[in-house]
Amino acid sequence: MKYQDYAKWTERATQWISGYFKSLPDQPVRAQTMPGEIAARLPTAPPETAVDMETIFGDFESIVPDGLTHWQHPRFFAYFPANAAPASMIAEQLANAIAAQSMLWQTCPAATEIETVMIDWLRQALGLPSGFKGVIQDSASSATLSAVLTMREKALAFSGNTTGLAGRDRLRIYASAQVHSSIDKACWVAGIGQDNLVKIETDADFAMKPEALQEAINADRAEGYTPAGLILCTGGTAIGASDNLPPLIKIAKAEGLYSHLDAAWAGSAMICPELRAIWQGVEGCDSIVFNPHKWLGAQFDCSVQFLRDPTDQLRTMGIRPSYLETQGRDEIVNYNEWTVPLGRRFRALKLWFLLRAYGLEGLRERIRNHIKWAGELEQKLKAHPDFTITSGLRFSLFTFQYTPQGADPERKTEDILKRINDDGRIYLTQTHHAGKFVIRFQAGQFDCTRDDVMLAYEVITELAN
Ligand SMILES: *Cc1c(COP(=O)(O)O)cnc(C)c1O
Repeated sequence: MKYQDYAKWTERATQWISGYFKSLPDQPVRAQTMPGEIAARLPTAPPETAVDMETIFGDFESIVPDGLTHWQHPRFFAYFPANAAPASMIAEQLANAIAAQSMLWQTCPAATEIETVMIDWLRQALGLPSGFKGVIQDSASSATLSAVLTMREKALAFSGNTTGLAGRDRLRIYASAQVHSSIDKACWVAGIGQDNLVKIETDADFAMKPEALQEAINADRAEGYTPAGLILCTGGTAIGASDNLPPLIKIAKAEGLYSHLDAAWAGSAMICPELRAIWQGVEGCDSIVFNPHKWLGAQFDCSVQFLRDPTDQLRTMGIRPSYLETQGRDEIVNYNEWTVPLGRRFRALKLWFLLRAYGLEGLRERIRNHIKWAGELEQKLKAHPDFTITSGLRFSLFTFQYTPQGADPERKTEDILKRINDDGRIYLTQTHHAGKFVIRFQAGQFDCTRDDVMLAYEVITELAN
């Protein structure tokens, strides 16, 4: 295929995509294939000679759709959303064609400068103070890893990158028991180690207990450990739990700990001023991550890390070999110095398209509706004698169990979840909460309607009978 043929094939792709969106509501949300079925339909070896695009496209149409779990399906209520608002998809198509490596300012000035402006637009949208800067990363996992590396280097007086970690201070990082597994992984990868990630007890509302944090730090210092950082969460993954920030940040500051807030999912909801009470005190965090690719609507991937002062992260991550120097221009921003990967996609473009095509009001309206409708569903299930709400609505997320009289609720809940997802009209996933197997429900797909959410009630109660 040649560049001259690009228009012809994107037209074909566009037609397929339009049909795909039209057909979505009638498709089962979760792929109904068995493991290995898709792979078995592909040749085991690569082609030696070129295959024509007609054949390639035909195979795509016949093989791939069966193996898709439809994340843009309006009744995708599993995990958290990974939205792709149409306007952000168009921007992605342009970014794909431009295919610039925006690692340095000069390798794509437009990407760098639009990124800086989009970070500032989002900072304002979320109500953060004007000093915050930031960078777009691929995922919250990468942003959290960057923050953990910064915690490590700061605690080692920025010598860990040089000397390695052998024989150095034994560092400790603190987080609530509700944080996402990406925090554990960041501690593995950064050489902190799982044993040195101290999970702090939570209170009745599943928020980290400040007195338990203080006790853990005191005990660690007495044992000769070096406390390095604190990881907080707004909208945890399992049930949407949030930490009460002010007393925890106060301890972090008094103890000299670098703080990072994981708001990967719920950060998007902070564009609604009436919801911001939940992260009151956020301006005290050193680093904050949220994923516009989740609830806000930016096409995956797009994760924003805000930094109160980028200096520490730049000292940790910035490396400037001579082939990356920009002759005579020291004052410009080279975003690769803020992150682990060198190469970077032009992700700011989809934020620019997204924020303009819907406006903050349009995006807020969606989020408010999702919260309202999820709340209605929660109330309906609560009123049903055979269902028990196991964690109440937090943002647009709640969890429940199927608890008909005289049956084992664990087994019944697992069983109904399987039947719901085999049925396909809606898609839900599970978590373990307070020792129980529970079903999570979240509403957040970009174009989901109240009818879609209410259909979940029909499906759940129908399959319970
Ligand atoms: C989704 C999520 C993550 C992980 O996000 P990635 O961008 O996939 O790395 C981390 N923390 C929370 C709270 C999340 O919801």
